[in-house]
Amino acid sequence: MVEPKVRIRSVRKCFGSVEVLKGISLDVPEGGVVCVVGPSGSGKSTLLRCVNRLETIDSGRIWVDGDLIGYAEQGDRIHHLRPAQLCRQRQDIGMVFQRFHLFPHRTALENVMEGPVVVKGVARGQARKRALELLERVDLADRADHYPAQLSGGQQQRVAIARSLAMDPKLMLFDEPTSALDPELVQEVLSVMRDLAASGMTMMVVTHEMGFAREVGDNLIFIDGGVIVEQGHPRDVLANPRHERFRAFLGQVL
Ligand code: ADP
Ligand code: MG
Repeated sequence: MVEPKVRIRSVRKCFGSVEVLKGISLDVPEGGVVCVVGPSGSGKSTLLRCVNRLETIDSGRIWVDGDLIGYAEQGDRIHHLRPAQLCRQRQDIGMVFQRFHLFPHRTALENVMEGPVVVKGVARGQARKRALELLERVDLADRADHYPAQLSGGQQQRVAIARSLAMDPKLMLFDEPTSALDPELVQEVLSVMRDLAASGMTMMVVTHEMGFAREVGDNLIFIDGGVIVEQGHPRDVLANPRHERFRAFLGQVL
């Protein structure tokens, strides 16, 4: 059996006394695109944040590319990774948020170069060349010297995607990447994500863009109240939603 790129097993996560994830299990195969949908507050962001260890989990296990996230196993003993080891693990997992979080006083090019130069110690010349290629890939070669404030929201989000890709991630996480954008800017970001999926990137995408999910997703997960209520191929589950809660949700977003 081929090892999935992401393996999530029985993950539980509480904030105080509130259990937000109540036993989530999910596999994402290499090159697979899973779209995660669900009502506000259902635990979608928390799930993504657990995968790149921005949140610790209370029980369960998550592996990315065979690496147990947040822990090391030695024989039958298991212990927390040290901060430096966590950092290294996180470098392999790109994340794009609803808000773009670019460095405001750096150009698009400098934003994309920053991670490789500062975190990985890549030579500036080499990082610059790669950053220009990535800006080309997100169709922003002509905006390399612009500052974030001089770019539209869609352009800023594409810079944020290029910046994540500059770290050569094994997995990309997207948390409602188009939700903060004006409607006319949504498609240019989805188009970059579509190309990325076609290039074979493994992706977990929280989105309300059902057209994207139907066209690009290999799997669609509906989360409600911290559990996976329904999942399957997007075309199947969208055409035949079985659970009442999922039907009600679709009625609101479609
Ligand atoms: P979604 O992304 O599906 O809207 P979230 O994963 O952001 O949902 O949040 C799920 C629940 O967990 C919500 O009730 C939210 O208020 C709560 N929550 C999220 N992050 C924290 C936190 N850092 N501290 C306390 N509660 C949190
Ligand atoms: Mg969220």
